[in-house]
Amino acid sequence: MKYIAVTNGNLELECSSCGMKHIVLKGNFAEASFGYELSPKVLCSCGDDAAARVDGKAKRSGFLILFFLFLPLLLLLSQIIRALLGSIS
Ligand SMILES: [Zn+2]
Repeated sequence: MKYIAVTNGNLELECSSCGMKHIVLKGNFAEASFGYELSPKVLCSCGDDAAARVDGKAKRSGFLILFFLFLPLLLLLSQIIRALLGSIS
């Protein structure tokens, strides 16, 4: 199972075999250091991807990608501002 998101307190997963979306209701999963622990196991109807634990780091890496996308933009902006200030004085 692949981690997608947590929405309204429910955990959204995607089967890594067939891509089907699964929703694990509040109380059927617990946060852990590696991601989420599922109890009971989530079994896809394709029978292929039973999972007792899910790596929930997708959210964090998504945030990092966003950060690295905006960082050059911020640097560029600060250079433009500096250039504008320099041309005034
Ligand atoms: Zn499946």
